[in-house]
Amino acid sequence: MSESTRPRVSITNLPAFGFETTLADEVHGVTVPWQGAPAPDPRVLILNDDLARSLALDPASLRTPEGAGVLSGSIPLAETATVAMAYAGHQFGNFVPLLGDGRALLLGELRDDRGRRVDLHLKGSGATPFSRGGDGRAVVGAMLREYLISEAMHALNIPTTRSLAVVTTGEQVLREGGPQPGAVLARVASSHLRVGTFEFAARREGLAQTLADYAIARHYPAFADLPAEDRYLAFFEAVVEAQASLVAQWMSVGFVHGVMNTDNTTISGETIDYGPCAFLDAYDPATVFSSIDHGGRYAYGNQPAVLGWNLARFGETLLPLVSSTPDAAITALTAVLDSYGDRYRQHYSASMALKLGLGDSGVDAALVDDLHRLLTDHHTDWTLTFRALADNLRGHSSPFDSLVPPDASANWLKRWRTAVSVDGQNLSSVADGMDRVNPAYIPRNHLVDAALNAATEGDLEPFESLLEVVTSPFDRCGEWSTYAAPAPQSFSAGFQTFCGT
Ligand code: AMP
Ligand code: MG
Repeated sequence: MSESTRPRVSITNLPAFGFETTLADEVHGVTVPWQGAPAPDPRVLILNDDLARSLALDPASLRTPEGAGVLSGSIPLAETATVAMAYAGHQFGNFVPLLGDGRALLLGELRDDRGRRVDLHLKGSGATPFSRGGDGRAVVGAMLREYLISEAMHALNIPTTRSLAVVTTGEQVLREGGPQPGAVLARVASSHLRVGTFEFAARREGLAQTLADYAIARHYPAFADLPAEDRYLAFFEAVVEAQASLVAQWMSVGFVHGVMNTDNTTISGETIDYGPCAFLDAYDPATVFSSIDHGGRYAYGNQPAVLGWNLARFGETLLPLVSSTPDAAITALTAVLDSYGDRYRQHYSASMALKLGLGDSGVDAALVDDLHRLLTDHHTDWTLTFRALADNLRGHSSPFDSLVPPDASANWLKRWRTAVSVDGQNLSSVADGMDRVNPAYIPRNHLVDAALNAATEGDLEPFESLLEVVTSPFDRCGEWSTYAAPAPQSFSAGFQTFCGT
C-alpha cells in the first residue's frame, strides 16, 4: 500500500484539531495528497506548550502516544487530507525546476489566538514524491537545532516560523557520521509559500495568478480588491518590504541563515528553514559557517545582496500578471525592485540607531561604518559590543575596553557619546533602552553544539537550559554568565555547520 492510501484513523482520545485546507482546495497543482511514513515508536521529546495553547491545542493530549503519532505524521488523521507541497527554486544560483516537500507534510491550517491562519507542517515525516532520492527523514540533533534557533529568533522579535514539537520516531537514520536517532519537527508558519512556489507556478499555465491571489488574500488582504494592474505590483512591493525588514533584523543580531536559496525565502517575510544557520561571534562580514557554501555566496555580509537577487527572481514570476505588455511589466517591477536597497538601508539604519541608543534621532552612516571597521579590526564579539556600550553609558568602561583597546576606540566612543547626549537625555535610561533591544544571550555556536550532542546521546538537560536562556534574551541574569560568553577561540576557528540534516 502506498503512503498516500494507508487508511486514515479517527483518534478517539485526541480532540479534533479543526484543520482547514484552503491551499489545497483553492490552488490546484501546488500540492499532492500525501501521508507520513509509519514510525515504530513516536514520542514527544519537546513540546511548546504556550504555542500549542495559542493554537487551541491541548498540550497534554499532544503528549499522548496518539498525539506523538499525529505530530510525527505516522498516524494519518481522518479529519483532514494532508499534502506535500511542490515548489521550485534557485539553489546557490542554479535553477531547479522541481524541489518540493521532500521530507515534509502539511498537516493542515489552524487559526492562532489572534485569528490568523497558520500552517502546521512536519519535517522529517518520510519520503514524498518530491524526495529526489533522499530518505525523507530528519535526525534529532538537526530538528532540535531548528526548534532552538527559531524560538530564539521569535524571542528576539524577529519574524520566523515557530516550533511546536520535536518527536522522536524510534528509528535510526543513517547520516554521514553514522546512524542517528530519527525525529520529526512540527512547525508553525503563517504559510509555507516561498519564492520557489511562485517559480514553480510561473511555469504552469494560469497557476501563478491563482497562487498570487491566494497569497494576497492570506498575507496582504488589503490588496485583494485592487484592480489587477495595481494588485500584483502592490503585492510585490509588500514582499520586498517585508523581506528587506527581515534581513535587516538578521543583520542586526548577527544571524547567518546559511542557505538563502529562493525556496527558503518566504512570501510572508518570516525566517524559514534553520539548516546550517548560526550567529556571528566576532564581527566579520565574510563569516560563512556552512560547510557547503564554498564560495561564500551566503556569507553574513552578502545576505542583503542575495536577498535582492532572490526578490528579482520573485519579480520575474509576476511579470505576466503585472501587465500584458512585457516592457511595461518590466519597467513597473524594476522600479519596485530598485527600491529594495534603500528599504534595506533604512531598516538597518533604524535598527542600528536603536541598538546604539540613538532611537528616533537616527544614526549617522559614518558612525555605523566606523564601528563596523573597529569591530572587524579587533575581532570583537558583535553581541557583547552593544551590552558593553550600554555599560559604558552607565559609567562602567571596562566591559567595552576589554573588547576594543581604548586607544583604538577613544575617538569613536567620543563621537557616539556626543550623539547620544545631543538631546540632553538621561544616560542611564538610554542604556536601559539599549538593553531592551540588544540581546545578552544568543544561541552561541559552542553551546548549541554541546546541547545537541548531549540530546543526541539522550541527555536533554543542556538543551532545555539553553532554550530557557535564549528565549529570554534581554534579561541579564547573573547565573547565566557562561551563556553570554563567546566561544573559546579554539572552537570558533574550526566551527562549521552541516546540511546533512
Ligand atoms: P532545505 O535545504 O532543507 O531547504 O531542503 C532543500 C530541498 O531538499 C527540499 O526540497 C527538501 O525537501 C529536500 N530534502 C532535504 N533533506 C531531505 C531528505 N533527507 N530527504 C528528502 N528530501 C530532502
Ligand atoms: Mg528549504
